[in-house]
Amino acid sequence: MLIWVNIDKPTRTYTIHKAGTCTYVIQKKETKHKGIGKLKEDGGWLPFESMDYVNKFIGDKFSKYEMKQHC
Ligand SMILES: [Zn+2]
Repeated sequence: MLIWVNIDKPTRTYTIHKAGTCTYVIQKKETKHKGIGKLKEDGGWLPFESMDYVNKFIGDKFSKYEMKQHC
């Protein structure tokens, strides 16, 4: 089961989604400023195999962001 992380640069938050059945995960879509599987100007949705990988990615780069756990 993939963990999806929605990194949102304008609000300086990243939201963790662990449920594959989550409406937000299912309905996520690429926009001009937010990517899927890659970051764009305003951030994006990135898949990770575990929270260890999430934490490594967040690292220093997004450590000032607020973490939200959605599901
Ligand atoms: Zn969710």
